[in-house]
Amino acid sequence: MFGWSINLFRIRGIQLAVHASFFLLLAYVGFNAWLEGGGIGLVLNVAMVLAFFACVVLHELGHSFTAMHFGVGVRRILLMPIGGMAEFDAIPRQPSRELLITLAGPAVNFAIAAVLWVLVGLPADWRLFGFSDYPDTAVGLFQLLLHWNLVMGLFNLLPVFPMDGGRILRALLATRLPYLRATFWAASLGKVLALIAGLIAAFVFHHYLTAFLFAFIYLAGDAEYRAVLRRDLEDAHWRALAAQGFATPAVPEEPPLLGP
Ligand SMILES: [Zn+2]
Repeated sequence: MFGWSINLFRIRGIQLAVHASFFLLLAYVGFNAWLEGGGIGLVLNVAMVLAFFACVVLHELGHSFTAMHFGVGVRRILLMPIGGMAEFDAIPRQPSRELLITLAGPAVNFAIAAVLWVLVGLPADWRLFGFSDYPDTAVGLFQLLLHWNLVMGLFNLLPVFPMDGGRILRALLATRLPYLRATFWAASLGKVLALIAGLIAAFVFHHYLTAFLFAFIYLAGDAEYRAVLRRDLEDAHWRALAAQGFATPAVPEEPPLLGP
């Protein structure tokens, strides 16, 4: 699924790559905009998509630079039509670090929103849900970008995996609980929320695409818990073998402390 990507350039050693389907999205948006608004519509809408994904990259760089500050290697940032994904060598299990690394992403969106709010403000008819005033001026473009950064920041704070909010909740729980228990409770809460939201989307609003999204979120909670459980079991397995005097492969250590 993640094949077919094109490497663009490196930012502080992190490879920025774009999934091939991203260009399909650009072509789709460009063609529709051209049909509706001609040349100017095409330029503004393609610029809007590129600006939106630039904000996605900045969000991922927020996570990445904070991770690098703690000595965690970041291999690449992959852009897909559904969003961005930063690939880390290993997410630290210290709650305070995971908390800071995770908070840094939405914080970037709110910082961008604050700067744009000072520069262009929001239109009088703005609302958080359902605002999609397609821009026909440069100011309109920046207002839509401001709106999207607010939505991106808030949506990512939902306390469900694979969103940043799920990791934030796990990190907060992990200050009191073992990491696996914290993951279990964070994933369970996320699954209950996803189930309720999915049922409401399907049977109250008849919005099946949103229901499908929450089905995906439900499964992601399971996947996160199983990934942490598997790593715990593997670690325990190798430790048990090592205790009996068998040679074992090197267990990856926690990244070295570089700061703060
Ligand atoms: Zn994020």
